[in-house]
Amino acid sequence: MATEREVGVGDFVLMDKIDLDSFMQNLEHRFKNGFIYTYIGEVCVSVNPYRTMNIYDKAHINKYKDRELFENVPHIFAVADASHKIMKQQGRDTCIVISGESGSGKTEASKIIMKYIAAVTNQGGQQEIERVKNILMQSNAILEAFGNAKTNRNDNSSRFGKYMDIHFDFKGDPIGGHINKYLLEKSRVILQQSGERNFHCFYQLLLGGADDLLRKLNLNRNPDSYFYINQGKSAKVDTINDKNDYKTVLNSLNALNFDSGEVESIWRVVAAIMHFGNVEFDVVDEEKLAVKRGNAVDHVATLLQVQKSELETALCERVIAARGDIMRKEHTETEASFGRDAFSKAIYERLFGWIVEKINAAIAIDANNYSKNYKSSLIGVLDIYGFEIFDNNSFEQFCINYCNEKLQQLFIELVLKQEQEEYMREGIAWTNIEYFNNQIICDLVEAPHKGILSIMDDACKMTAEKITDEMLLENMDRTLKGHHHFMSRQTKPSEKSLKHKVQFRITHYAGDVTYCIEGFLDKNKDTLFQDFKRLLYSSKDKNIRDMWPEGAQHITKTTKRPPTTGILFKNSMSALVQNLLSKEPHYVRCIKPNEIKSAAAFDEQRVRHQVSYLGLVENVRVRRAGFAYRQRYDKFLKRYKMLSQFTWPNFRGGSDQDGVKVIMDSNNFSNDVKYGKTKIFIKSPKTLFNLENQRNE
Ligand code: ATP
Ligand code: MG
Repeated sequence: MATEREVGVGDFVLMDKIDLDSFMQNLEHRFKNGFIYTYIGEVCVSVNPYRTMNIYDKAHINKYKDRELFENVPHIFAVADASHKIMKQQGRDTCIVISGESGSGKTEASKIIMKYIAAVTNQGGQQEIERVKNILMQSNAILEAFGNAKTNRNDNSSRFGKYMDIHFDFKGDPIGGHINKYLLEKSRVILQQSGERNFHCFYQLLLGGADDLLRKLNLNRNPDSYFYINQGKSAKVDTINDKNDYKTVLNSLNALNFDSGEVESIWRVVAAIMHFGNVEFDVVDEEKLAVKRGNAVDHVATLLQVQKSELETALCERVIAARGDIMRKEHTETEASFGRDAFSKAIYERLFGWIVEKINAAIAIDANNYSKNYKSSLIGVLDIYGFEIFDNNSFEQFCINYCNEKLQQLFIELVLKQEQEEYMREGIAWTNIEYFNNQIICDLVEAPHKGILSIMDDACKMTAEKITDEMLLENMDRTLKGHHHFMSRQTKPSEKSLKHKVQFRITHYAGDVTYCIEGFLDKNKDTLFQDFKRLLYSSKDKNIRDMWPEGAQHITKTTKRPPTTGILFKNSMSALVQNLLSKEPHYVRCIKPNEIKSAAAFDEQRVRHQVSYLGLVENVRVRRAGFAYRQRYDKFLKRYKMLSQFTWPNFRGGSDQDGVKVIMDSNNFSNDVKYGKTKIFIKSPKTLFNLENQRNE
């Protein structure tokens, strides 16, 4: 609840008038005065300050510890505290869902939450808990090094989705954790748009690695030397210190039990990929392709610890097993380049997955201290890639934006459902609030048979005829013609802004995004020639072999076509949603104040757009539904008992509800309240301000 020290209202529900203009005024006014957090009931709206705020120190942590949401100025600490408290007191699993577009501050928010939880737990100073806290925190640096990159929207953009469970013992102290990762944007390994970078780890290694390590890896320190990491022409970023970050990552790897051999394997794979990008091909004659002379391929073979001749063969031809016979087929130059790129992406993806599994092993609940059946409670923290629109949007943006649709859908369902249930439980009449439900867009993407993912999956199954991306788009056009959220040149020939036949547009909840269909099929199929898998399984490096267990399969073993990337992603999203639904949710809605990473600018139009599509005003309306404020009787009585001589210092005349009624009646507020089964509901914000003012006097 707002206190007199605050600017504007700390909870949008307390606004006099509930509309977009008032919402914007309050948000901007607060932001400009340094209040970046504002509630909508229990939802925390956060505006990225783009500057260091001194609101996360020890003094602030103490202020929010074990307090109620309304007792202090709104803060993300209060959300973390509420989540922790419910988990601890009621033994219920909770989750904190952080959403917002790219650069709005989700990852920072998730780190602030973890920092808070680490700070308020383990009061007993147990060594084991201290160790767990430390490694949970340190895992961030590693994940960001390998999973984040500079994009044109955010210098530290998450290129994978992350859901982290933190497990707690009955005292509420962290005893372990587990990370689920979602679809890494691996195309970045081989390709970056202008102004962007590859994943941070490449630059960290080049700038931070010791001289002898770089010599061993045959690397020079200049990022421009490597095609896979120089395409964006922006290796140097003002806000990033790669050299220092390298040290931090090394320390974190140490803390998380990576041994020196494992650390070396990691850097060897990273280096191999950089060399791989410089491998080119020569067409010897019509029948024959060869790797161009140069050192790159030698380095790759040495670093991955495989036979150079076998590597060259795997690059230039593929082995086909048909009805028990084994045949060799020479690649065309295009096929060979495609294979090299696919291989590089796959190596990186496997490396990332392997690192996450190693982290999970390090942060798992220690079996020596807790029996297998130990029932821990948990807090899940979700931090994914935010909604994004670039100049060129491809399959990856399509998946990322679909993921954001799913989370918006979850928000709608949960907020509405919870509110509705609360009114019903409390026996209070409820009026329906209208707002845009994005289920229709989720269906457009994921519906069986008719959704885009399904159409793509069907196209990938057709092996007999050669199907192209354009043909895929034609299939989509046929099936989706007339859909209000889908448009392409074929479905609406008049659509001039879709310049090319290969583009289509989805009207997402957060805005229109034009996607280019080129590459969709390949990325969805995600084929990797079998030969590469076997090659890496033959590596002398055990860690690399571990990343490629299926390489052990015999060549003639007919492998079933693996599910497409899109279908896997859809399944992982639906599992994620089910998981979140099973927990008590808390929400942080992040807003990006401007496009220029400025601490001062508040781009009214851009913010207004986000507030609209996030449905925040509707959220306020639903939350309020005629009532500005609600509170449990015991808590309300505790806070305001000094406002009546009958309740101060203690009320002895009946239940907490009776006590609350005495306070409200003696202050002439009885017309402004409704009494639910366990909570008081207050209609007008003024009543609450009045109570607060009296209390402060
Ligand atoms: P993406 O979807 O691209 O991963 P994101 O929502 O995770 O974006 P962040 O990386 O958390 O965005 O934030 C972008 C940048 O904004 C940070 O690197 C930091 O500079 C700044 N920032 C965000 N939140 C805060 C904060 N609370 N205090 C100070 N700076 C912040
Ligand atoms: Mg992020």
